[in-house]
Amino acid sequence: MRKNIVAGNWKMNTTVPEGVELAKAVLEASAKVPAEVGLVIATPFTHLCPVAAVVAGTRVELSAENCADKEKGAYTGEVSAAMIKSAGCQYTILGHSERRQYYGETDEKLVEKTKLALANGLKVILCVGENLEEREAGKHFAVVEAQTKNVLSQFTAEDMASIVIAYEPVWAIGTGKTATADQAEEIHAYIRGLLKDMFGAKVADDTTILYGGSCKPSNAAELFAKSDIDGGLIGGASLKAEDFIGIALSF
Ligand code: PEP
Repeated sequence: MRKNIVAGNWKMNTTVPEGVELAKAVLEASAKVPAEVGLVIATPFTHLCPVAAVVAGTRVELSAENCADKEKGAYTGEVSAAMIKSAGCQYTILGHSERRQYYGETDEKLVEKTKLALANGLKVILCVGENLEEREAGKHFAVVEAQTKNVLSQFTAEDMASIVIAYEPVWAIGTGKTATADQAEEIHAYIRGLLKDMFGAKVADDTTILYGGSCKPSNAAELFAKSDIDGGLIGGASLKAEDFIGIALSF
């Protein structure tokens, strides 16, 4: 059966010392969270090694926020999946809407990145989600279906054991506007249906699908009560250990 996970995405926030303190605070507060709930923190690249030293050997897993679409070599400024793995990460986020919007992340690049992440023993949190214009035009199912299929059609049922999907409606990210639990559940169920068509019922049942978009302690319980919502990818609220752990206590 699939795992419930709460993953924090720190984005481009905190200095290294601040990040180390935040990781320590998350770790300390994590004692309150039932052992079966997965806790992941995704930090900037600069923070991975020192934060890995804080969380090594604990229940808190570490993620990068992105990785390169090339294995290694002359790609100045890029960070490879192998580097991320060697820094102590178990995960990387891929396809976050901010990367799609500001850094030209295409589904084609995401296929390459996902291949490299899996080949290097990383699990992937693959983000999908429509923007406001697409939602208002009633295209949200089509957009999410295309994003999901364009990437996942290149992977096998076995690969899916290392892939978590995060549905993040772009209009709800950092805006304070959360999708209602019913709006989120509708898309989560749709994604699970796509996985069933692509990989069969077992993979569909076993895949963790997170919701992301202005999730906080006050709305997490209603979202997580839905049968196809298996946790959250948390931006703003992950920068306060108390709020992040408050969300993880909402199952
Ligand atoms: C995110 O960026 O993944 C996110 C969900 O952000 P926020 O929680 O701040 O809306």
